[in-house]
Amino acid sequence: MNILLLGAPGAGKGTQAELLAEHLHIPHVASGDLFREALRSDTPLGREAKGYIDRGELVPDAVTIAMVRERLAAPDSREGVILDGFPRTIEQARALDEVLAEQRQKVDLVAFIRVRPDELLKRLSGRWTCRDCGGVYHTLYNPPQRPGVCDACGGALYQRPDDRPETQSRRIEVYLAQTSPLVEHYRRRRVLVEIDGEQDIARVQDDLRKAVTGKQQAKA
Ligand code: AMP
Repeated sequence: MNILLLGAPGAGKGTQAELLAEHLHIPHVASGDLFREALRSDTPLGREAKGYIDRGELVPDAVTIAMVRERLAAPDSREGVILDGFPRTIEQARALDEVLAEQRQKVDLVAFIRVRPDELLKRLSGRWTCRDCGGVYHTLYNPPQRPGVCDACGGALYQRPDDRPETQSRRIEVYLAQTSPLVEHYRRRRVLVEIDGEQDIARVQDDLRKAVTGKQQAKA
C-alpha cells in the first residue's frame, strides 16, 4: 500500500509515519529527512536546497521530484511506502502518480491529519529532533526519557533551525497556499480520510491504523 500523510508542519506526520511504518513493515519516506540528510552530507542537492529550507520555502518541484523518484526506485519501496511531506504541490502529486504508475502502483490512501494553526505553532516551538534517526519529541507532549537524548537510538536531540518562530509562520503560510489544495485534490479522488490530529499520539495512530485496515479490506 502507498499511503500519504498530509498535514501542516507540526501536525505530527513524522511521529505518526514512523509508528505506522513499524506496524506495516514498509518504509517511511520523508522528503524533509532526505533533504536534511543531503544537507548533513553537504551534497550538491543539500547545497541547492539549503536556502529554501532555511527560509521555510518549498524546494523547487523539479529538484524535489527527482530526489523522491530516486528514493522510490529503491527495492525496499516495492511493497509500498508511507510518504511524509511529499507531495506538497499539485505538480508533485501528478509526478507521484506517474512514478507509481511506472511501477504499476498508485496512491491507495491519503490521511489528512488536521490540527488548528494556533496549536501548530505551540507544537513547533517545543519540537526536538534526533540528529541520527530523525525521531521527533516535544518538551510537553512527548518528552524523551532523558533530556536531549533520543529514546530510540541514543542520538543527540536538537531544535531544527527552520523551527525558529519567523520561519515557523512562513512554513505554515506556505502550507496553506501551496499544499492545502491537495486535500480537495485527493478528496475528489476518494482516497482521503480525515483524522483529528489534536488527539494524543496513540489515538491518532489508532485512527490511522483503522483507516488502513478499512482500505485493505476494501482492496481484498
Ligand atoms: P519537513 O521536514 O517536511 O517539514 O521539511 C522541511 C523543509 O524541507 C521544508 O520546509 C521545505 O523547505 C523542504 N521540503 C520538504 N519536503 C518538500 C517537498 N515535498 N517539496 C518542497 N520542499 C520540501
